[in-house]
Amino acid sequence: MLIVGPPGSGKGTQSERITERLNIVAISTGDIFRANVKGQTPLGLEAKKYMDAGDYVPDSVTNKMVRDRLQQDDVANGFLLDGYPRTLAQVEELASILAADGATLDVVLQLIADDEELVQRLLGRAKELGRSDDDEKVIRHRLELYHTETEAVVAKYAEQGIVVKVDGLGAVDEVTERIMTAIDSLAGSS
Ligand code: ADP
Repeated sequence: MLIVGPPGSGKGTQSERITERLNIVAISTGDIFRANVKGQTPLGLEAKKYMDAGDYVPDSVTNKMVRDRLQQDDVANGFLLDGYPRTLAQVEELASILAADGATLDVVLQLIADDEELVQRLLGRAKELGRSDDDEKVIRHRLELYHTETEAVVAKYAEQGIVVKVDGLGAVDEVTERIMTAIDSLAGSS
């Protein structure tokens, strides 16, 4: 499955909870990039320029990283991708990776949240965690990119009837319950 949502919508937190309940692995492209930046790997050095500006890392770099990750054994039981695909070119790449294994996506979960609320949340997180891409200008740029690029991705999956939208505002537990109910209802309807 995929989890999609604007920056600050709680994708990371909810991914952890969903993957625990469903016993599948979480794969976050943002986390993999940040680990590479921290480790100063060639991939990290390349990605950092884009991340600091709130821009997407080029598809060629991101696609290769995801292809490699999805070839590891631990994804056999299923996986939740957080932060990928974000562009239509990435949608195609994922479709080709999955097709090679005869696998299909079951669910695309979209978290919905109001932009202004998100900006406030992210500015709060910037104070706590000091992520270098959490300053207001960069945050607004990431939100804008989400609306232009990633919503086209969701529209594509909506054509396949696998998108469920969940309100991402409210207590963390409440959102988790909403998500689990939404996933169950999609599973029940197919
Ligand atoms: P957020 O959704 O809060 O912006 P992420 O942790 O998912 O945060 O991503 C952080 C940064 O990592 C993005 O701004 C982008 O630079 C890069 N990144 C993550 N996933 C992708 C992707 N699928 N394609 C291109 N760049 C990505």
